[in-house]
Amino acid sequence: MDTSTIAPVDGTSTSFVTDSSSLAAPVPRLAARTEQAVKVYGRDGTEVRALDGVDVGVVAGRFTAIMGPSGSGKSTLMHCLAGLDTLTSGQVFIGDVELGSLSDGELTRLRRERVGFVFQSFNLLPMLTASENITLPMDLAGTKPDKEWLRTVVDTVGLGDRLKHRPSELSGGQQQRVAVARALANKPELIFADEPTGNLDSRTGAEILGFMRYAVDRFTQTVVMVTHDPVAAAYADRVLFLADGRIVDSMASPSADKVLDRIKAFGA
Ligand code: ADP
Repeated sequence: MDTSTIAPVDGTSTSFVTDSSSLAAPVPRLAARTEQAVKVYGRDGTEVRALDGVDVGVVAGRFTAIMGPSGSGKSTLMHCLAGLDTLTSGQVFIGDVELGSLSDGELTRLRRERVGFVFQSFNLLPMLTASENITLPMDLAGTKPDKEWLRTVVDTVGLGDRLKHRPSELSGGQQQRVAVARALANKPELIFADEPTGNLDSRTGAEILGFMRYAVDRFTQTVVMVTHDPVAAAYADRVLFLADGRIVDSMASPSADKVLDRIKAFGA
């Protein structure tokens, strides 16, 4: 398949126009993008080319899923997009800012102010209450939460009287709700989620995915999620398929069945 015609800068081309059913649709704003992203691990004969010249764009206010076989570069792409790892060559932009042009301090500040993370393992601090975990990034940054927004997020998360509880007193689903609320708390431009339902049963996983979907629809949040689960990917607006460090396909308005068929076709 000729990948250059599929997803050169994802979302700016054919498929987005198809989404909006009008050829006069405005060019979508990209919350993040890469240009010829290359990431090589190791050296001297043991090199692994984890990203092999990826040009991709994450459309603002949309939910993007990244899929692909194990070792295809999903985590590497997400970490580089999020500024958690650096490229070997090429560029990553969050909004208009090219991450390679930033000092370590500037990059840390940008991540803190503009990016939220949800991990498979929740990553909550056990000594803090749910409420304290939610506001931790802002406490660390020394910024004051927007109280009204925080209330909206907490109400939406629906933890009710659990906010004073510590993580060990919460179910896995409740802990992940806290983690999603924490990611949303300072209104980041972008949320990156790495297999966010990997440790949850399917019903609880569906609740978390539904909540992230709601955050995109209700708050125009931008979400990028790595997943291997076609059911999870079906919550997204768009799925990008990676293989051997390249974007090999993309799918708008995915359903679990369509995603599964596509994965089978690639033999992933
Ligand atoms: P995925 O998330 O799709 O499973 P990864 O991005 O984790 O893929 O890995 C892509 C490739 O890069 C794999 O071959 C993996 O073994 C390799 N890789 C990832 N991280 C490192 C690392 N820190 N050192 C060496 N190789 C790595």
